[in-house]
This record gives sequence, structure tokens and C-alpha cells, in this order.
Amino acid sequence: MCAPAIRIRPPRRPGTTVPADRRRPTEETVAYRIQVERDLCSGLRACVDVDPVSFALGGDGIAVPRADATDSGDVIEAARACPMGAIRVFDGAGKQLV
Ligand code: SF4
Repeated sequence: MCAPAIRIRPPRRPGTTVPADRRRPTEETVAYRIQVERDLCSGLRACVDVDPVSFALGGDGIAVPRADATDSGDVIEAARACPMGAIRVFDGAGKQLV
């Protein structure tokens, strides 16, 4: 059995930048912050069906955000799809959108 190949990335040339679609989200670039009210969630999984990038069901059947922040364009639709109103979405500046 062979060891997995390790890919070493060459150093970035001075003056070059990472393309926007390959950057990791940072405090400045995060599009949306999400919260799930556990007391309201009834595990109907509409959010997971609409935006599986941002939501998952936990072991107890309650939705959990996959991260505190997401750049997924589906997160607002997922929040609106929640029949319990259990999801809140905020923009990067903290303004509540849903
Ligand atoms: S759609 Fe709402 S009630 Fe259903 S799992 Fe997601 S947060 Fe919970």
C-alpha cells in the first residue's frame, strides 16, 4: 500500500492575488451569519433540502448550521422555507435579513 501523495503548493508569486471564488470567508467577506432557534425547530428539514451547504440535521433531529457563517446564496430561501420561523439570517454587518 502506498502512502497518499502530498501535494505541495508552490509559493505565490509576489504581486498575485487569490481569485475571489477561491478565498476563504473572513470577517470582512462573510455574506451571511445564521442562527437556528433550537426551541422552535421541529426537524422538518426544509432548510436542509433547500440549502444543504449551510444546514444539517443533528443527531437529535434538530437543524444545525454547518458553520456560523456562509456564503451560500440559498441561505435566505432556506430560512424562508422554515415553517417554524426557526432560522435567522444576518448580513455581514449584523443586519437581520430573515
Ligand atoms: S426548516 Fe426549520 S423546523 Fe425544519 S429542520 Fe430547518 S430549522 Fe428546523
